[in-house]
Amino acid sequence: MTVEVENKLDLAKRDAAIEEIARKFSVRAERGRRFAELTSLRVGGAIDWVISPETEEQAAQVVHALNETGVAWRPLGSGSNVLADDAEHHYVVVSTKGLKGEPLFDGQRVSVSAGYSLPRLCIEAGRRGLAGIEGLGGIPGTVGGALWMNAGAYEHEIGNVTESVRVARGGRVVEIPGREVKWNYRHTSFQEGELLLGATLLLHTDDAEKIKERMEGAKARRLSTQPHGGRSAGCFFKNPPGSEKGTGKIIDEMGMKNEKRGGARVSPIHANFIVTEGENARAEDALALAEEIRERVRREHGIELEYEVELWRSKDSLESGTNSLESGVWSLESKVSSSEPEDETGTIENPKSKIENQTDSRLQTPDSRLSED
Ligand SMILES: Cc1cc2nc3c(=O)[nH]c(=O)nc-3n(C[C@H](O)[C@H](O)[C@H](O)COP(=O)(O)OP(=O)(O)OC[C@H]3O[C@@H](n4cnc5c(N)ncnc54)[C@H](O)[C@@H]3O)c2cc1C
Repeated sequence: MTVEVENKLDLAKRDAAIEEIARKFSVRAERGRRFAELTSLRVGGAIDWVISPETEEQAAQVVHALNETGVAWRPLGSGSNVLADDAEHHYVVVSTKGLKGEPLFDGQRVSVSAGYSLPRLCIEAGRRGLAGIEGLGGIPGTVGGALWMNAGAYEHEIGNVTESVRVARGGRVVEIPGREVKWNYRHTSFQEGELLLGATLLLHTDDAEKIKERMEGAKARRLSTQPHGGRSAGCFFKNPPGSEKGTGKIIDEMGMKNEKRGGARVSPIHANFIVTEGENARAEDALALAEEIRERVRREHGIELEYEVELWRSKDSLESGTNSLESGVWSLESKVSSSEPEDETGTIENPKSKIENQTDSRLQTPDSRLSED
């Protein structure tokens, strides 16, 4: 039997298993979706399956069943920090966007599910006179995505106010204290294979009008320093460690604003933003431009830029003869360490912490049980 035929058989078994899991837990499982529809850069290839649980319990059961069956999966919130390549991605994307029941406010606490919109949560909290996350109001994405990478802006980081996090473990919703999580600069100690289901945040009371003013101030600053309404993923690179200049400034000074490769352009407003344009933009355009920036910064400044955006690479096409189910070839270059904290305005913040972990593979590597059958 050729490798190609074997691969197809493996995928057929996997598909049957996924359909069975979707039926068992009554979750929506779709085929034919593309990263271009699910990420803010609006590029990226086809995804084999997107599964969308609607409750935390359902989500915990589903990922447990996927693990037990040896099916590779990867969590996705709003896709505002992901650049997925143009190839076919032969794994399950577990979309958390359905996990968005109304947040429960109780005094200074709010319990919120992972799929809830972070900006909306900030507005809701502010209206109730609850402070501590108003700086995060302009960060597009879900609460889960923010927790995963300890999103932050304007002196606020979500980890600072997280009292507990609900995670999927062994098919159940397990609550862990926020103090047990390492909240570093755009990085946390959450482990590969962990699906974050929700959190309880502990905020503090303040005058609702003052909170609103601070939110509006942050919004105005963002609007004046960042592209908005376009297709981006926020800052593409981290700031280099120890450098007084932010990455945006370095790229700007090299004259690369507005540089274009295919459907990707260095934003004329903020040089650390790559935006995509037009119907034909491809992930490879953005990646080519990003690599060119890195090459020039390496050559001209001796600095190795690290990606802030997560690169989801799929090398698992059946045509290439790679059996993705067995080899777990999906590789992910992810948000890695050692740069100074920056806000998305390109300003280097006072470093609170350093990222410790250099690797951050989010893909749940499959075991090979299915393909061994
Ligand atoms: C215009 C713009 C401005 C931005 N400004 C900022 C900023 O100021 N500060 C900042 O920190 N970021 C910023 N970002 C980046 C992005 O918005 C944040 O990283 C955001 O928190 C990502 O949330 P998301 O739901 O889109 O996550 P996604 O992009 O969907 O996922 C990001 C990562 O989190 C993982 N993940 C998502 N949900 C879960 C979950 N429930 N359980 C486990 N893992 C999960 C994914 O697997 C992936 O590894 C900006 C982006 C844009 C487009």
